Amino acid sequence: MTDFHSPLKQKIEFVKGVGESRAELFRSELGVHHVEDLINIFPFRYDDRSVFSLIKDVRNGDSVQLKGTLISLEKVRGKSRSRLTGMFKDASGFIELTWFQGAKWIADSLKVNQEYVLFGKVNVYRGKRSIPHPEMELAAKAEQKSAFLPVYGSTEILNRKNIGMRTRRNILEHIFKLLREEHFHEILPVQVTKVLKLCSRYQAYRWIHFPQNETERSHAANRLKFEELFFLQLRILQVKKIREKKLKGLVFSTVGTYFNKFYQEKLTFELTGAQKKVIKEIRADMGSKIQMNRLLQGDVGSGKTVVALMSMLITLDNGYQACLLAPTEILAQQHFKSISESVKGLGIHVGFLSGSVKGRVRKELFKFLRDGHIHILIGTHAILEDPVQFKMLGLAVTDEQHRFGVAQRAKLWMKNEDVPPHILVMTATPIPRTLAMTTYGDLDVSVIDELPPGRKPIQTIHRTEGDRMRIIKFMKKEIADGHQIYIVYPLIEESETLDLENLQQGYEELLNYFPISDYKIAVVHGRMKASDKDMEMQRFVNRKAQIMVATTVIEVGVDVPNASVMIIENAGRFGLSQLHQLRGRVGRGAEQSFCILMTKTSLTHYARERIKTMCRTNNGFEIAEVDMKLRGPGDLEGTQQSGILDLKIANIVSDIKIMQTARHFAMDILTSDPTLEAPAMIQTKRHLDKMKAKNKNWGRIS
Ligand code: ADP
Ligand code: MG
Repeated sequence: MTDFHSPLKQKIEFVKGVGESRAELFRSELGVHHVEDLINIFPFRYDDRSVFSLIKDVRNGDSVQLKGTLISLEKVRGKSRSRLTGMFKDASGFIELTWFQGAKWIADSLKVNQEYVLFGKVNVYRGKRSIPHPEMELAAKAEQKSAFLPVYGSTEILNRKNIGMRTRRNILEHIFKLLREEHFHEILPVQVTKVLKLCSRYQAYRWIHFPQNETERSHAANRLKFEELFFLQLRILQVKKIREKKLKGLVFSTVGTYFNKFYQEKLTFELTGAQKKVIKEIRADMGSKIQMNRLLQGDVGSGKTVVALMSMLITLDNGYQACLLAPTEILAQQHFKSISESVKGLGIHVGFLSGSVKGRVRKELFKFLRDGHIHILIGTHAILEDPVQFKMLGLAVTDEQHRFGVAQRAKLWMKNEDVPPHILVMTATPIPRTLAMTTYGDLDVSVIDELPPGRKPIQTIHRTEGDRMRIIKFMKKEIADGHQIYIVYPLIEESETLDLENLQQGYEELLNYFPISDYKIAVVHGRMKASDKDMEMQRFVNRKAQIMVATTVIEVGVDVPNASVMIIENAGRFGLSQLHQLRGRVGRGAEQSFCILMTKTSLTHYARERIKTMCRTNNGFEIAEVDMKLRGPGDLEGTQQSGILDLKIANIVSDIKIMQTARHFAMDILTSDPTLEAPAMIQTKRHLDKMKAKNKNWGRIS
């Protein structure tokens, strides 16, 4: 059976019931050119055909399915034209049927005193119910068909042009009359279908469109989901393997003075087990001859920075330079200061680069980078720019770069002429395992799943405006105890001014309770000059200010262990992961910390779920899972740009088990046969190649 003659390859216009004008609509509205395309649009739900309404219950405008007997049929002569009317009866009553067009043809095709199944929309005219142009099918025939009617996604234009569900179903029925088992190559390896007892592709397609019952539907869905995720995983893992093979890495074989001296003399605390484990993994990577591409996940406060620093020290020990990229100027500054402080006396030169570093200073910095005088460069995205050249970059770390995609990584790779630097991507945005397997599927993942000892879990509380005075009192007490407080206002991009007003207003109100004579309040927002921001930030870091009023600019990374209270105003307007990030700014010291979520009394369902989740758990991974459920995976940071989640049937949240199974099998197969050369893999390989060619998004994974 050659593909060429397969009904699957037939152009859609040649299918019975389609024709040229409908085919044009299928092409433009649904991207359907061939039969194969149409059967690959799966129903998103089913109408249950086994449920019938009773005539006595139906009302104006109802779309109903009735089962009963056609008891009469007659032509009625009207003023201008004749119509056909019928009387339909079930156990509960009678209803009139009317046809204004095609009366003759319909009269011939219907038989009085037969049992029918009828679909239609009820119309009431002068108090009388009738169903105009009902669809009728002999009950005996209808019963042979599937009980589930597929419902497909449609478009306004298709609906307007009368290509409704019934038409779609009819066309698909025609198509399936032509299709046989042999038209569907098995594209999954036989060992997989056998072990998992998956139904054949033919059955799967048939059953997904026209299941007789729930069992058939779920068999079909299972197989199709597995197939989809299996090929996705094959692709991701293949990219990963190719990368591992091709990209030679710098080999850092030694741990030397910098590392050891820091470890023995500078490190003020014992590393957690998780930190040690991750440093080990990174060391192994950097010694392995293959370029490291590692994602380091660790909840806020888990101590990623020191891991990054120690990795950089290994790099220095081997004679190479390192850089650390942060998403904001404030965070970059903070890293610069704390890392400079940490390595003081070790003879390490640390440089800083951001957009605000200009003129002579910038020029000199560039020179020092090129001649290797600077060992560690810390900064913002400015580091990625072309004029920034290193003598020899050995490691690039990016902190909290949720949007640090492949393109940016590639820019770092190009910093060296021959061998690319090792890459460490750090994030506190917990990427649910499911997503890590898709979006970041080509990165190796390390997790810091342990907080430094002695941390008390942050207490999170939901409050409304009525509690304001109590909160003021509480704030005063915390400040009296020597602690510091953040107050955060939301920031929406489309109306920065409005947010600024909120913040301004909040600040002024605050002054009523915390007069300048007794208290100092720092203010930071996105509209300030970098130098002013920094000054305000420093006032807080140095404990000159007790309260920091800010927009979300303090969201990531900022570390003030003495801050014990985070108040989030209008918390209902924040996303879950953002709330979690903000909360992570406190709870960094040994004191009990608090996060107070202020909202209006009336909240949307989703806002309420977010607040509830925050109060219930401190676990970033749990929060990320809830976030994904509430928002849908398409919205999650990073996934949109990666665009690989336009799955047709599988859902990466609810189908995680299938995804894991698919990954497991894909991994197994690729381990013994990385390029799928085995004869048994011919169809699998062919299908994978086809998917690669067709799905432009798949290319972006690599
Ligand atoms: P994050 O993972 O959010 O970037 P940081 O690296 O900023 O966390 O660390 C948070 C705080 O915890 C810092 O003040 C850091 O010095 C401290 N810290 C890190 N590791 C440990 C440890 N093993 N024991 C005690 N404190 C630690
Ligand atoms: Mg950090």
